[in-house]
Amino acid sequence: MVLSNMLKLLLSSFVLISFMACETEVSSPQVLLPQIKLTKETFEVKKSEVRRGQGFFQALKNVDIQNQLALDLINSLRDEVEFSKLKVGDVLEATFNQHKELVKFSFSQNPAEKHIVSFDGKTKKWVYSFKEQPTYWYHRILEGELSYGSTLQDDLIAQGLERSVVAEVVNVLLCKVNFRMNARMGDRYKVLLSERRFSGKTIETKVLYTSYQGKKAGFSQAFFYEDSEKGSTYTAHYTEDGQALIRSGLRYPLSRLHVRSGYGYRWHPVTGKRRMHRGVDLRGRIGTPVHAVASGKVIQSTYNKYAGNKVAIKHRDGSVSYYLHLNKRRVNRGDWVRSYQVIGTVGKTGRVTGPHLHFGFRRSNGRWMNPMNKRMIATPKLKGARFVKLQQQIAQTKGLMQDLELSKVSKYLIAEIPNLKTPKSDHFFKFFSEEKALGKPKEAQFLEVVMNTENTPARDLAKI
Ligand SMILES: [Zn+2]
Repeated sequence: MVLSNMLKLLLSSFVLISFMACETEVSSPQVLLPQIKLTKETFEVKKSEVRRGQGFFQALKNVDIQNQLALDLINSLRDEVEFSKLKVGDVLEATFNQHKELVKFSFSQNPAEKHIVSFDGKTKKWVYSFKEQPTYWYHRILEGELSYGSTLQDDLIAQGLERSVVAEVVNVLLCKVNFRMNARMGDRYKVLLSERRFSGKTIETKVLYTSYQGKKAGFSQAFFYEDSEKGSTYTAHYTEDGQALIRSGLRYPLSRLHVRSGYGYRWHPVTGKRRMHRGVDLRGRIGTPVHAVASGKVIQSTYNKYAGNKVAIKHRDGSVSYYLHLNKRRVNRGDWVRSYQVIGTVGKTGRVTGPHLHFGFRRSNGRWMNPMNKRMIATPKLKGARFVKLQQQIAQTKGLMQDLELSKVSKYLIAEIPNLKTPKSDHFFKFFSEEKALGKPKEAQFLEVVMNTENTPARDLAKI
């Protein structure tokens, strides 16, 4: 009897010990080692899309990721993904192990790219990686003439161009053309598009060139300039002499723009509570110069434990811009500052998870607004090395358009003059002869390939 009681006790304590061992599996992996060998690892993958009206935090719930885990994921992706650019249909994928623990998460804003966060069991940290499939840029020219009663916008939409791209073209030309007063029937427009395609779909579009010619409107053209730094605010449309084609607005507070956290209600990265975020958090390294977005008078240059080093500037129209968490403040209360003057540097002072600039904007009526809805401009005019680069890019754009236009007419030319050859269109003739040898001219594909030979590897050319 005593023996069996002792046995019971022994047994229950054994159960207790093994139960405790389960509880502490994280800190004592030796205990669990035999178990791991016995159980086969199984994973469950949950896939979903961002739905209408959902922010990233809400979208994570679609794949059963919530609360602190959701905040951790958001914080580890913030510097790579701009959540303010979330679209309906963006894909989320969560992989859980047999203990229902999240081990991997991926997020795709287009089918060719994946942002992946995996849990590293050794360091107990989320590790970020980026996976990209090869894609190609294709070029095409869109041209047309306004018919009676039509507008440039209507025409471009009718040609099948995506609305955001139409808006880009129209906004650029609006800087030069007063459509309401001067647009006329018979006016001509031209747009050079560079389209990034993946499995038959356009996943990104750049408007490399746009022009408008009218009896009343005259001739205007705009060239796309792409800065070498990703996210540079200098990447925009310019005239041939470097004038920025963005209707006058504020200067950007930083030269690179990546919104880590947008304006509006959000779950606070530190407190985890839902609160109104009256501004945007812009990514920046400690020490990066912060610029005044417009001229004005410094009405605050202070430190407190929440905002850290803070500067506020009142502008001529009564609006106020705010710059928080600065490392250094370079202005004092009462100072007058010029537009784009350096007023401090990016820091991580106050209640923050890491270095960034909190940039806020208050209208003259005292209401807060999303500063990203203000028109902003990197520079009124490109200068120095950037201007030189603009000239190089303009030359490339013009060359590309010549090639495209040549390829449109050259199939007739070739029939007439078989030995015609120009250095610029070498690739075109090479392809044409191969195509002819195969005896299957496919005009549409053929033209497309010609337009893009420089971006297309030879193996892909051979497939067509
Ligand atoms: Zn903020």
